[in-house]
Amino acid sequence: MSLTTNLKNLSNANGVSGAESAVRKIVIELIKDHVDELRVDTMGNVLAVKRARGKASLRVLLDAHLDEIGFMIFGPNSDGTLKFRAVGGIDDRILPGKAVLIGPDRIPGVIGVKPIHLASHDKTVTSIEDLAIDIGAASEEEARNAVSVGQTATFATEFRTWNGAANGAANGAASGKALDDRAGCAMLIEILRGPRLPVEILAAFTVQEEVGLRGAQVAAHAFDPDAAVAIDATPANDLPPTIDQDLSPNTCLGHGPAIYVMTRRDLSDPRLVKHFIETGDALKIPYQVRQPGGGGTDAGGIIPTRSGVPTISVSVPTRYLHSPAALIYLSDVRHTIELVRESVARLTPQILRRQ
Ligand SMILES: [Zn+2]
Repeated sequence: MSLTTNLKNLSNANGVSGAESAVRKIVIELIKDHVDELRVDTMGNVLAVKRARGKASLRVLLDAHLDEIGFMIFGPNSDGTLKFRAVGGIDDRILPGKAVLIGPDRIPGVIGVKPIHLASHDKTVTSIEDLAIDIGAASEEEARNAVSVGQTATFATEFRTWNGAANGAANGAASGKALDDRAGCAMLIEILRGPRLPVEILAAFTVQEEVGLRGAQVAAHAFDPDAAVAIDATPANDLPPTIDQDLSPNTCLGHGPAIYVMTRRDLSDPRLVKHFIETGDALKIPYQVRQPGGGGTDAGGIIPTRSGVPTISVSVPTRYLHSPAALIYLSDVRHTIELVRESVARLTPQILRRQ
């Protein structure tokens, strides 16, 4: 199956933090014939091992998170609508009027909004506590029978491609929900389905990243790797156009994978940053160094594991992250796969030796 098809199936699957099983199933199906060991741990992380070509000098953890931001149902209101809250970081401004899918049966609903005809003097942002999901139920009882407290919901977006994406056009684009981090999952799947590398690959598709990097901490502890790469999606604030800001844009679409130096939560290992940059230069793989600061990835959960793990984050630049429709360039996805695969293939104990 092609990279685009995998991205589509992964993006359309629903897997809010803690309810990742639909995504887990897709991942397992796509990697099971291409890895030497495969298991699901107690938290729900998918852990796979792909042994090295020849004798491995290093064991390298490659991480991508299965979960996505979304909502949790808190219970029915007397009018049959549903109280809900965000799981992970979602901006209240983007909620009203959005279609959602609830629970494993993907029950459709819409986040209620006053029509513009009646709202001309009321343009303030309504906070999530004052919004409700409408599933068309006429009473509290009807709503209670359809949806249970604690079920999760996602945006109801369908994945799409255009600009010749299917034919590999340079600016071929894709949009969909949950590209953070289904893009990372698709990239890690692609690496696992590829040839063996000179290092052993320890692949972790982790749960609960969006609520505190929880799966990654457990996965890294279990694997005890020599080094790690967190593969994720990072915000690109290159559009919509804004007035010049000091640190703008942090990453740009079409400029290749974003190599992290620092986030709010962690510092990439400088030896790995240097190695990834040198690999990109040597092989003419485009890359960009992400504006330091902000955000964070599973790296923050991996780095302090056991006696410490040298870790780097590499992400595909993504517009409109944590919204109903994020947008990426498929060329960036391909270049991220290439940069991670080639950099990891060339990693040696010498590179990781402390000076
Ligand atoms: Zn992410």
